[in-house]
Amino acid sequence: MAVDITTDLNVVRNIGIMAHIDAGKTTTTERILFYTGITYKIGEVHEGAATMDWMEQEQERGITITSAATTCWWKNHQINIIDTPGHVDFTAEVERSLRVLDGAVAVFDGVAGVEPQTMTVWRQANKYSVPRMCFVNKLDRTGADFFRCVDMMVDRLNSTPLVLQLPIGAESDFIGVVDLVGMRALVWRGETTMGEDYAVEEIPAELADQAAEYREKLLETLAEADDEIMEKYLEEGEFTVEELEAAIRRATLADKLNPVLCGTAFKNKGVQPLLDAVVKYLPSPLDIDAIIGHSVKDENEEIKRLPSDDEPFSGLAYKIATDPHLGKLIYVRVYSGKLEAGSTVVNSVNGRKERIGKVYQMHANKREEIASVGAGQIVAVMGLKDTKTGHTLSDPQNQVILESMTFPAPVIEVA
Ligand code: GDP
Repeated sequence: MAVDITTDLNVVRNIGIMAHIDAGKTTTTERILFYTGITYKIGEVHEGAATMDWMEQEQERGITITSAATTCWWKNHQINIIDTPGHVDFTAEVERSLRVLDGAVAVFDGVAGVEPQTMTVWRQANKYSVPRMCFVNKLDRTGADFFRCVDMMVDRLNSTPLVLQLPIGAESDFIGVVDLVGMRALVWRGETTMGEDYAVEEIPAELADQAAEYREKLLETLAEADDEIMEKYLEEGEFTVEELEAAIRRATLADKLNPVLCGTAFKNKGVQPLLDAVVKYLPSPLDIDAIIGHSVKDENEEIKRLPSDDEPFSGLAYKIATDPHLGKLIYVRVYSGKLEAGSTVVNSVNGRKERIGKVYQMHANKREEIASVGAGQIVAVMGLKDTKTGHTLSDPQNQVILESMTFPAPVIEVA
């Protein structure tokens, strides 16, 4: 039975995962979907295969393996993972996906550090001031160096990393992280299996000095970005975990700082704290500015749409996909109002009426048919005939055009 989805927007996170090819985006996504409640056999990740191609069983049955948006739940928060293409030649597509997500996690290879494709996507994300966190992955690999990777974030991305964790052990002895906010150690011992939780321990004695040093750096960096913390920092006051988390969130949402976490997705270490951080520090649809579109009649007449179910419906079609069972699916981010299955809307770009067929929310192992969905959500829509990516769908009585994007020429990296 189709359901109505109007979730409290405060618990929604529309995020993208960005990475240079091979840094571990697919593996990290797989693990996220596993930890958020899906149990299935994890298939091999093939080099160069399409992103989010973890649905082995689905693959065997020949069902589409990619979903442009996958919904999952973590600690009462709904996380919609929007697929961001990792290849430079998909620049226009990257730009469009960056527009519909509210926050992102950049995954880095702990050995290679900051690589060209990440630099390209990072620059594009700068354009939209997308709040971003960093996950330094593959710390189990020989030659992995967390600190060098953080330095590269400064040098190559011109970002201000906020180191929230330190690795405990290196390469094959990497066992966990020091949590610099809670000043504790999160440890996975031995051969970790999927789903295994970490043990919370005291910070190992040999890391006490380094942890104290990086805690001080964390406070300094945060104080520079946040007045409330600065005031208390100058008075040499103590900070509670809640105060620090709130300040980290403010600085991240303002795109001033990029929290940095680390681990190894492949060895199942670090992913649960990463999910906690996504929920704590990345924005909900209510945290981002209201979308500004323009009138159909006059390009210079701005129209603002708030992420509220009470506003007239507006949504942006951002991706077309073909599902062997369902046929053409168009992924739409609802910016305002409600999108209802069976309703008639207008494509404000070409003026055509469009009937909304079935509407789905895509999960890792199932698709859920939706009767209506509220602002801030991302869904797959069937039945649209004349809608292309980048087109706006509107309430027929209250039209708006959300995107009049002209894409810049692709940025060609010179090695
Ligand atoms: P993507 O191209 O960014 O999606 O990267 P993948 O997730 O496909 O990973 C590329 C390769 O690196 C695969 O062979 C993974 O098994 C491997 N990999 C991913 N994460 C880790 C990790 O934490 N440690 C190690 N050693 N290998 C990893």
